[in-house]
Amino acid sequence: RTGSQIMATFLLDLILYLFQMGNYDVIVVGGGLAGLTAALHLQLKKVHVAVFERQKYPHHKVCGEYLSKEVVPYLESLGVCLPKLNNIDRMLLSTENGRSITTKLPLGGLGISRVHLDHALYSQAVSTGVPVLQRTITSIEYSNSKFTVLDSKGAQYSAKFVVGAYGKRDGLDKNLQRSFIKGKSPWLGVKAHYKSTSFPSNLVAVHNFRGGYGGLSKTETGAINFCYLVSYDSFKREKDLESFQQNVLCKNPYLKDFFERSQMLFDKPMTIGQIAFGKKSAITNHIILCGDTAGLIHPFCGNGMAMAVHSAKIASQLIHRYFTDSNYKRQDLEKDYTTQWQATYEKRLWMGRQLQSLLLSPAIFQRTMQFLNYSPYIVSKLVQATHGKQIDTV
Ligand SMILES: Cc1cc2nc3c(=O)[nH]c(=O)nc-3n(C[C@H](O)[C@H](O)[C@H](O)COP(=O)(O)OP(=O)(O)OC[C@H]3O[C@@H](n4cnc5c(N)ncnc54)[C@H](O)[C@@H]3O)c2cc1C
Repeated sequence: RTGSQIMATFLLDLILYLFQMGNYDVIVVGGGLAGLTAALHLQLKKVHVAVFERQKYPHHKVCGEYLSKEVVPYLESLGVCLPKLNNIDRMLLSTENGRSITTKLPLGGLGISRVHLDHALYSQAVSTGVPVLQRTITSIEYSNSKFTVLDSKGAQYSAKFVVGAYGKRDGLDKNLQRSFIKGKSPWLGVKAHYKSTSFPSNLVAVHNFRGGYGGLSKTETGAINFCYLVSYDSFKREKDLESFQQNVLCKNPYLKDFFERSQMLFDKPMTIGQIAFGKKSAITNHIILCGDTAGLIHPFCGNGMAMAVHSAKIASQLIHRYFTDSNYKRQDLEKDYTTQWQATYEKRLWMGRQLQSLLLSPAIFQRTMQFLNYSPYIVSKLVQATHGKQIDTV
């Protein structure tokens, strides 16, 4: 961040703390892709919005870093500048024993690190005047058509709407008594960047192994991102990440070859736990939920980031309508958001669940791959079923 950005953020924080002035049309909780997109869109439409994000920017995130092109023109129309060095148009899929298939991707994507992508949205939000405040939100209450939001230091803010974009899982879900929180969260995500020779910039490679799968793709820095999802059951049979790499990941000859020819650029891989793919709601206690907060698609589909951005667009359009059409009421907005969310994502989520269970049943997956070898086109069609069409600009 530039000195002036840091100074502006500091002064803004100070004023808000001293005078507790936090009264907005919309408070966005969580400044990841969904939250920052919503803030950028609403700011452009002159809705008074603020973002509360618990982490400092820039920061890495556990993610496969494949951004579907369906949201690229829309993000650019919000003024976000995206590096297009890695135009990914092919996918390689391999089984644990190294049987593989390569197919053309219907729409394709960009290889961009999350540290870069989230920061690009954050910088654009700050430069358009959105207050992005470093706060951990601990409570969101709704009463008399107004939200009261509390942060971990006890400061209080209010708004007509709250967009919940705080990711997969948070203490807030418990406070809000969301039912998915009681279900199992049996997945672990691991990621690191590597220096490697000769990985094509137009390829995303998805490799299968016992209890999970991982994706390789190039980022804008030239580093290769390797990110994998694995069940706890499979992971806990090994003593640590290193032995998991040696004993499980390297059973797949593609991954063995990758690790032999690459060097990790992080001190150690990043990990996140408690990942679950159960059903969630798109609205809870009048909070409009976007991105992973409303539903998480299996990472194999490479569509979570696009869904985060697109759901934020849908929410922002409806919120903007509320502020410009006096006949449009909160209950209309909530009904429309739920309907549009379900119409846009339910089939994709369902298809993602089917593909993931196929991928994680080694015997069935090997047989399916034998069959798919005769028609890589079917793989491309399956990928298409987990993605949407390119969305309109703002
Ligand atoms: C292993 C793995 C690989 C993946 N690979 C891909 C891929 O290749 N392509 C793809 O498109 N998708 C992928 N995804 C999915 C993608 O990462 C998510 O769908 C996407 O990050 C969702 O964005 P979001 O804005 O909803 O949430 P996030 O990016 O998680 O943002 C939520 C933000 O909220 C903040 N926050 C949380 N709680 C609070 C609080 N109480 N107060 C304030 N702030 C808070 C967090 O710090 C965070 O910055 C992958 C997911 C996993 C698990």
